[in-house]
Amino acid sequence: MFFKGAAFTHRKNEIIILGGGLTGLSAGSVLTKAGLPVKVFESGGAVGGLSRTIIHGEFRFDLGGHRFFTTNKKTENFVRELLDGELISVQRKSKIFMHDRYFDYPLKPLNAVFGLGIPTTLKIISDYGAERVRRLKKDSDAVSLEDWVVGKFGRKMFDIYFKEYSEKVWGLDCSRISAEWVAQRIKGLSLGVAIKNAFFKFSGRGIPTLADSFIYPSLGIGRIADRLRETIDKNNNHVATSSSVKRLSHDGVRIKSAVVSNCRQIYDIEGSEFISSIPLTAMVQMLHPAPPDNVISAASELKYRDLIIVTVMLNRERVTDQTWIYLPEQKISFGRIHEPKNWSAAMAPRGKTHIVAEYFCAEGDAVWNTDDAGLTDRTVKNLHALGFIKMNEAVDSTVLRIPKAYPLFEVGYERPYDTICSYLGRFQNLHIAGRSGMFKYYNMDHVIEAGIETAERIIKKVSRIQKSEVRMEKQEAVILNPEF
Ligand SMILES: Cc1cc2nc3c(=O)[nH]c(=O)nc-3n(C[C@H](O)[C@H](O)[C@H](O)COP(=O)(O)OP(=O)(O)OC[C@H]3O[C@@H](n4cnc5c(N)ncnc54)[C@H](O)[C@@H]3O)c2cc1C
Repeated sequence: MFFKGAAFTHRKNEIIILGGGLTGLSAGSVLTKAGLPVKVFESGGAVGGLSRTIIHGEFRFDLGGHRFFTTNKKTENFVRELLDGELISVQRKSKIFMHDRYFDYPLKPLNAVFGLGIPTTLKIISDYGAERVRRLKKDSDAVSLEDWVVGKFGRKMFDIYFKEYSEKVWGLDCSRISAEWVAQRIKGLSLGVAIKNAFFKFSGRGIPTLADSFIYPSLGIGRIADRLRETIDKNNNHVATSSSVKRLSHDGVRIKSAVVSNCRQIYDIEGSEFISSIPLTAMVQMLHPAPPDNVISAASELKYRDLIIVTVMLNRERVTDQTWIYLPEQKISFGRIHEPKNWSAAMAPRGKTHIVAEYFCAEGDAVWNTDDAGLTDRTVKNLHALGFIKMNEAVDSTVLRIPKAYPLFEVGYERPYDTICSYLGRFQNLHIAGRSGMFKYYNMDHVIEAGIETAERIIKKVSRIQKSEVRMEKQEAVILNPEF
């Protein structure tokens, strides 16, 4: 049995936001500033979604180090104003560790091309040349990640630097990973640009993959979400955590209400506009009445990649001087590590540090099902074998499982995606936004922009409706009272 809006004071024309990550909170913040009534529902116990900072005793860490970088001044100013006095500038220093040695990341030609010995270097150069000649003759469309990278860098570079890591992240052969993902991910990056970057101290500004410094809140990336929440929780607007949306009722053209469960009760909340930043596939499945079978089956075809974060606290001042270290080889069970202290000194107490290891996996697979003790043991042993730590330095640990961390762009994903989007297009008051919400490989800057833009669209719509209501009231007044 549902209670009609009993948990909250219900106001006319309330805007309901599904998800308290950066998309939902940015939208909620802009709508609140415009004086509109807003409720945000977040299923987790805290706000921030993928961009939250975990506090574990005296240690803080992000779910995989999150650097904020944008070329959009409006977005940068939005974050700077929000976190006035809290931001520090961090020098990006990343390496790839493989074949028992370090390589620069982003790739630098001298190190990347010549670091592997003369025969491999010659093969890299000849493959790159052959690919250039082939492209001059025939400009083929890249379908997969493999096509795209081989086309840009040559086969040998693909085999050495891209294949193993990409397959570790996505759990798929590179010929099955869509080229669209890699084109978005390393947009603007070609061997030519990488060479310019290496030889002419080009800052990489404008190419997110190459940018060499970034801003960061001294207490962790989660401060963006915390501050956004503070800008919403006022004048009866509210961010409700531990509140999971279970159902969206509709009449075929408009969403009418959301059923929300907050572990004590289940509520049915009416709204005028609905913003959804929760995973697209989950949102489709909660529509009531249910969409046609082809839409439901399209939703089951879109996949996400999951993540486990293992954090090991260490009785030692510091382990590395890097922001991230990438570990492509399959023999190492995690794919990336970071040391939060290298992002901000405030992330760990004096004399101690911690390493955060990211395991890319699929919910229900062998890694996902390994218990926390097993994952911690594996992480500590790997860090020791790699020469980073001594076994007895590990003093504490914590394990977090994060479902749907990445939308998975398998070749052919566009068909089910288009089926879903064309069905959802009929709902006049449903706005999908954000990374999981839109099934896009969006970073924080993109999702903040998506939240702001969605809010601005709604503000314009509400203002148009209000103006036409005033016009109608005036017309009615003239009819009822000709002297008006
Ligand atoms: C390992 C990793 C590293 C990253 N590093 C960077 C980086 O360095 N720089 C960068 O810019 N970006 C980075 N990102 C991307 C960044 O995290 C995302 O772009 C951003 O956090 C997405 O925000 P969102 O609000 O769109 O989605 P989410 O953060 O996924 O928010 C959606 C929210 O909806 C909630 N929810 C789900 N279902 C329901 C329901 N039924 N009812 C209510 N609430 C629900 C979820 O709990 C979640 O809080 C990284 C991502 C990952 C996974």
